[in-house]
Amino acid sequence: MHRTRWSLGLLIAISAAILHAQTSAPYPPFTAKQAELGKELVNKSLEIRRQITDMSAPAEPFKIMGNLYFVGVANGEAYLLTSPEGHILTGSAMEASQERVQKNIESLGFKMTDIKAILLNHNHEDQSGGAAYMKEKSGAQVMAGFAEVPYIEHGMFNPPAIPAPPAAGGGAGRGPRHYPSVHVDRALFDGDVVKVGPLSVTVYLIPGHSPSPATFAYTVKDGGKNYKVVEFCCWEYPDDLSRNGYITEASVKLTFETLKKLYPVDIYLETGAYAWSGTLSQPSGTITERMAKLKTDNKLFVNREIFNEFSAAREVEFEQKLGTLKASNP
Ligand SMILES: [Zn+2]
Repeated sequence: MHRTRWSLGLLIAISAAILHAQTSAPYPPFTAKQAELGKELVNKSLEIRRQITDMSAPAEPFKIMGNLYFVGVANGEAYLLTSPEGHILTGSAMEASQERVQKNIESLGFKMTDIKAILLNHNHEDQSGGAAYMKEKSGAQVMAGFAEVPYIEHGMFNPPAIPAPPAAGGGAGRGPRHYPSVHVDRALFDGDVVKVGPLSVTVYLIPGHSPSPATFAYTVKDGGKNYKVVEFCCWEYPDDLSRNGYITEASVKLTFETLKKLYPVDIYLETGAYAWSGTLSQPSGTITERMAKLKTDNKLFVNREIFNEFSAAREVEFEQKLGTLKASNP
């Protein structure tokens, strides 16, 4: 009798373990092995990120692949997709680095006035702080996910919902963390396509890091081959309910469903250079050494597993953190 009860208990424990394994395994088509490797990638990217002490420090521009160029700063942040009929700039970097981005664009031989669209991933200063300046220099249309618009148009803060901090040396109407506000000419919605001449960028809205960050997907051609590029920002987890205003179970599940629509991704770009596929494809080196190597060997960017492994690892981590949060809020 005792023996039978013990077996039943064991059976329940095994079932619970299987159930746990099922809920914390990455959704298909990713594998547990990819999730494991993805965890290493996350740690590696964080380690590289710690080397960037000044996000707006200068960085040399270079061609990523085909008609896609890096024109940003030490932290990444700005990319230029070019065509003979006009260019698309994604990300504007910070107010402190806007002139560096302009210099990078011009030093590659491109004209500011040929930029027709400025696509902003989200409203934070490192991404949108230089947008007013870029718009003024180019005359381009500024575009961002629809829920980012009120923030961008108030220099990152949305006064009606989130009172701005008192100005502390930031000048009239500008608190210490404000950036120059800019009118958003086009609010972007999930599935929108932005076209400039032959260029075509598909937009996916993925809430979490802010109300509606926009992921940009497009194809570049190099040496007769097509490469699918995805620029994404940023992963968030439900660590603390008091700090995650834009995360819901539904929004994160939508994120994973959206990412699945995107793969295979040949070239993975985050707004930060520390998480580019090209940076993480290198076994070692400082961020400076990795960036330098990418200028001479751009094929390091082509690595489909970076996106798959990141996605797999983050699905597992999300499920685990959600489980912990649920357990602590009975
Ligand atoms: Zn941000």
